[in-house]
Amino acid sequence: MSDSNEKSDFIRDIIRMDLENRKIHTRFPPEPNGYLHIGHAKSICLNFGLAEEFDGSCNLRFDDTNPTKEESEYVESIKTDIRWLGFDWGQRQYYASDYFEQLHEFAIALIKKDKAYVCDLSAEEIRQYRGTLTTPGKESPYRNRSQEDNLQLFKEMQEGKYPDGLKALRAKIDMSSPNLNMRDPVMYRILHKSHHRTGSNWCIYPTYDWAHGQSDSIEKITHSICTLEFEDHRPLYDWFIKQLGIHHPRQIEFARLNLTYTVMSKRLLLELVEKKYVNGWDDPRMPTISGMRRRGYPPEAIRNFCLQIGVSKAESTVEIAFLEHFIREDLNKKAARVMAVLDPLKVVIDNYPDDQEEELTAINNPEDICAGTRNIPFSKILYIEREDFMEDAPSKFYRLAPGREVRLRYAYFIKCVDVVKDRDGNILELHCTYDSATRGGDAPDGRKVKATLHWVSAKHCLTAEVRLFDNLFIKENPLKVEEGHDFKENLSPHSLKIVKDCKLEPSLGKVKPSNIFQFERLGYFCVDPDTTNEKIVFNRTVTLKDEWAKIRTATFTIL
Ligand code: ATP
Ligand code: MG
Repeated sequence: MSDSNEKSDFIRDIIRMDLENRKIHTRFPPEPNGYLHIGHAKSICLNFGLAEEFDGSCNLRFDDTNPTKEESEYVESIKTDIRWLGFDWGQRQYYASDYFEQLHEFAIALIKKDKAYVCDLSAEEIRQYRGTLTTPGKESPYRNRSQEDNLQLFKEMQEGKYPDGLKALRAKIDMSSPNLNMRDPVMYRILHKSHHRTGSNWCIYPTYDWAHGQSDSIEKITHSICTLEFEDHRPLYDWFIKQLGIHHPRQIEFARLNLTYTVMSKRLLLELVEKKYVNGWDDPRMPTISGMRRRGYPPEAIRNFCLQIGVSKAESTVEIAFLEHFIREDLNKKAARVMAVLDPLKVVIDNYPDDQEEELTAINNPEDICAGTRNIPFSKILYIEREDFMEDAPSKFYRLAPGREVRLRYAYFIKCVDVVKDRDGNILELHCTYDSATRGGDAPDGRKVKATLHWVSAKHCLTAEVRLFDNLFIKENPLKVEEGHDFKENLSPHSLKIVKDCKLEPSLGKVKPSNIFQFERLGYFCVDPDTTNEKIVFNRTVTLKDEWAKIRTATFTIL
């Protein structure tokens, strides 16, 4: 890589200093207790990205030390998501549970060094004895057991002699340390639970703090990159590694990604899924990678976003609009343009012959000449967007109104001559006239129109269901709630709107799930996997910026 292209930030600066004669070796260590979200994407892009950039490698390691919450479904979803984002761990797929034997031996080594002991305090007592940030901890009465007793009791713990929680193995460090993590943390707890990989081989399980650093060491990770909340755990990880005399990875912490109008914790996302506030982990409103995929976010755009937000030590929250910006930018280059009408209003062209039909030429993507053109049918009865017509139009409304002329994209100028209503005053259809001299272009007499509308031919169009999404939460920070209240009270009642009777141009007859299009003037839309031979379902990925909507409602979203 040439110098001018080299990215620079505090993590990369450290790595450059460290690497001299070594290859970088990073890892992405998800706990398989939920689906990955966009925060994980930041970590994936960083860890796999650094390995690519510095010509090293990145392991995928499932941090599966907790048998109660982990499932194989999550393991599979994590692999799918990482591959979809465009990264590859090759043969380097590991599990913390692969190291259960080794960790057990390490624990025995610490007992033999008098650096670990079996403690009979309950979890609650351990918490009380630990003290607080301002008061020192109290030593456990079991702290000074003999090495022989500790070895024997630890063996009995492992053999299943005790019920859950009756004993624990703890590191023997310093109950008066200002760092709470150093006050004799628990290394093993008793849990009579079957594990998704080791079955019933074990009834003691290592804690995250005991497993994580040693797993990094066993895999010879050079740079162990994690989020800021582990800064205070670093002295503990360093202590374990020093006591054991094993390879020492360098841990570097960075600030986790937060996004406005959503939550980013697997625990909370799981709650939304389990209590059916959303339709599964891959609900397009979710900040999960699978949700974003279903919604139509391209992986390249997510990677670009992760690159642009960069890494830092300062906690911050990124605007969701910033992410959407990268989605639009990417899709603008790639997505074929088509015409679709979300809220159809019938238009009859009075002076167009009843049985006439013609094919007009439409450009597939003005950003990509290679994408070519297609034909779209035109006939006497059309649909336009209901909001493109106003009976009493204010001066800033340039679209169709009684007596006003507009252009139909790729077709003709039409002028509204009549409005047909039902008894309640609802508009049923418009009558217009067209000017045949304006076919696919301008008026020969040079007269101008101020708007170009999208449309479909009623006789030829397809019907589809379109799902429109808005932010999942109404508050920028949904977790900010008064005491006694719950983040779920901030869920938006308008985050999903299903529109059943949308009209599509007939070229969309053979679409497949995940195909993505720009519906002209409306936004980007992606074919949903619920699509069958009988029914087409589209998801709105993201809107286009609509100046009129901005003036009208001072918001970006039109639902
Ligand atoms: P959550 O709080 O959502 O449950 P987690 O940290 O418990 O997340 P893990 O499966 O342990 O989830 O995370 C795997 C890796 O992804 C870790 O290295 C973690 O630091 C990183 N990670 C998790 N959330 C974020 C985030 N919001 N921004 C950046 N990195 C993250
Ligand atoms: Mg975690």
